[in-house]
Amino acid sequence: MNHHINPLIQSDMEVVNHLLKGENIKYDSTTKVSGQYVPDSIIIHYTAGDSTDVAVKTLKNPAIKASAHIVVGMDGEIVQLAPLNIITWHAGQSEYKGRVGYNKYSIGIEISNPGYLMKQPDGSFHTWYNKKIDPSLIVEANHRNKITTVKHWHKYPEVQINRVYEICEAICAAYDIQQILGHEEIAPGRKTDPGPAFPLDALRDKLLNQNNSTFPPAALAVVNADMKVLKDAKADSEALWNLTAGTNLKPIKVQGDWLKVAFRKEGWAMREFLVGDNTDDDGDAVVTANRLNMRSGPTKENDVLMVLVKGDKVNLIEQNNGWYKIWIEDRGFVANNMVTMQNA
Ligand SMILES: [Zn+2]
Repeated sequence: MNHHINPLIQSDMEVVNHLLKGENIKYDSTTKVSGQYVPDSIIIHYTAGDSTDVAVKTLKNPAIKASAHIVVGMDGEIVQLAPLNIITWHAGQSEYKGRVGYNKYSIGIEISNPGYLMKQPDGSFHTWYNKKIDPSLIVEANHRNKITTVKHWHKYPEVQINRVYEICEAICAAYDIQQILGHEEIAPGRKTDPGPAFPLDALRDKLLNQNNSTFPPAALAVVNADMKVLKDAKADSEALWNLTAGTNLKPIKVQGDWLKVAFRKEGWAMREFLVGDNTDDDGDAVVTANRLNMRSGPTKENDVLMVLVKGDKVNLIEQNNGWYKIWIEDRGFVANNMVTMQNA
């Protein structure tokens, strides 16, 4: 893909007293914040929606446990929700280079974008909330986390990409920013945002010119034989999931003879028991039934792989005849010598 950051932007944007100042920037305060901190990182997200208003309402809604510092609309409008020296709740369970819980280190930027697109039986593509997307707005690309198999994404308008760049530049001028990361990198497997349609590498190359981690973003651990992924790094630990030979896992860190990995539990669930959840932080749909079987295929005759319960958040992959293919991410351990490492 051909991404470029416009080098000719002359931005007047700046951070004054932990607030972004410049044209077309609104302030609309969220109450979902924690204490003060000193930011040293920026985390880039997509909202999993196309409306800035809806995203701002969601990030302010006390019933939904997610917030962020900044929302950037598809038209370049910017809404700031909290001062940049106050913690917001955008990262969720997260880990990078041994650091855990990125809310307490990072500024969260949410970019209005529907995210991944699902292929329909007629060959067209819809957002997870079932809006048909014009082919000119679709980017076909693999995700940097190789366990994400989705290949179609909603384009980010250039005006929006340039606004994100201006924001990051202003933040880097105001704080000692060491890392600009995607949510997909601090929650590998669980999150896919901002996804391959966003020029994340170009953005940080230009602003920071650094990217180091325990494993490179494209690193992959491939399972050598049928086996189980375990809850803890010991042989008699509880088994979390069966893996078949050839399954791709996202390596997180080495712990003695064990490798901590992120892995996907994939299966099918009946669509009527899932409702959309536009919060981005924890998935794209919520289970509404008390118990919901996740099956190996889109019929009631398929095997039950696991049982989901009311309130579980899931990510949607595709739909078929009243069923959704879904995935959830989990983390566990596999023996180091049972996987083969690949650096894409
Ligand atoms: Zn996110």
